[in-house]
Amino acid sequence: MGKKIVVLPCSGIGKAFGEISRQAVYSLAEDLRPEDVITTCLARLMIDDPESKALVKDNIVITVDGCAQGCARKNVEATGQQVDHAVRVIDIFKQHKDLKAQGVLELGEPGFKLAQILAENLKDEVDCLIKKG
Ligand code: SF4
Repeated sequence: MGKKIVVLPCSGIGKAFGEISRQAVYSLAEDLRPEDVITTCLARLMIDDPESKALVKDNIVITVDGCAQGCARKNVEATGQQVDHAVRVIDIFKQHKDLKAQGVLELGEPGFKLAQILAENLKDEVDCLIKKG
């Protein structure tokens, strides 16, 4: 497959759900599917960086937002592209309410577990998108 899967977490600074989205994407891109997944900094897309815009234009895109604001998805859409799949940490949390992050700087064991569950879900989605080609 020529195309990569670009997975973009929101920037969610100061929010535990945003931190969970980033941790899940790092785990996906570095450990679970390093050969298929790439990520980039959302801020580069927000400043119209040509390389980042080409990345989302030429590849399959998944966004991972912390909350309903959907900042990562909206920033991709602002470039004129539609995302192939959009995930929100808040929706995963609703299915695992026992896994409440302790704080932003230190997610703690529950928050870390939630990030791992999200990373595994993303891995399944990546595999599915790869199969579809
Ligand atoms: S989607 Fe929510 S958590 Fe993420 S950057 Fe936007 S407001 Fe923050």
